[in-house]
Amino acid sequence: MKIAVYPGSFDPITYGHLDIIQRGAKVFDKIIVATLLNSSKNPLFTTEERTEMIRESVKGIQGCEIEVDSFDGLLVDYVKKRKANVILRGLRAISDFEYELQIASVNRIVSDEVETLFFMSNNKHSFISSSMVKELARYGAETKELVPDHVAKMLHMKYGIQKTR
Ligand code: ADP
Repeated sequence: MKIAVYPGSFDPITYGHLDIIQRGAKVFDKIIVATLLNSSKNPLFTTEERTEMIRESVKGIQGCEIEVDSFDGLLVDYVKKRKANVILRGLRAISDFEYELQIASVNRIVSDEVETLFFMSNNKHSFISSSMVKELARYGAETKELVPDHVAKMLHMKYGIQKTR
């Protein structure tokens, strides 16, 4: 069974992340979307909120088993514990490359049994980032092109903004 772990902050999940999961679904038997606990990034959403939003978002994806989980500690340890073979990551632009290369290289030093596989983002979604989505939502702008409706609602609730447009 080909199992991939797709780790990230997913604060919140966007159509960019979902695009990577959909592509992965064509290649893997199972994808474990894993939210990082205790991220130093100081997330807007709690782990429970982030995992719940992912669960709701991946409901329609077919052709592959998708599990949503969260993890703490070293990613490679989690990957081995879950008996996965691959870390799945997305590449949006050249700007992602250096950061992703660094993580992949460190993970390889920690364990050479786990491979990192990169999927190139669809052009349509390559500009989307969770931080950009949060910035827009903070000022009451429309985010429905960037995130599923239920995520847009959560963003509006978080920022206490009534939908104006
Ligand atoms: P992290 O904090 O680990 O970078 P993110 O939630 O920001 O977590 O992203 C998780 C993964 O998804 C990363 O590999 C990131 O490059 C990728 N990703 C994020 N947004 C997009 C997008 N719009 N298109 C493709 N990949 C993306």
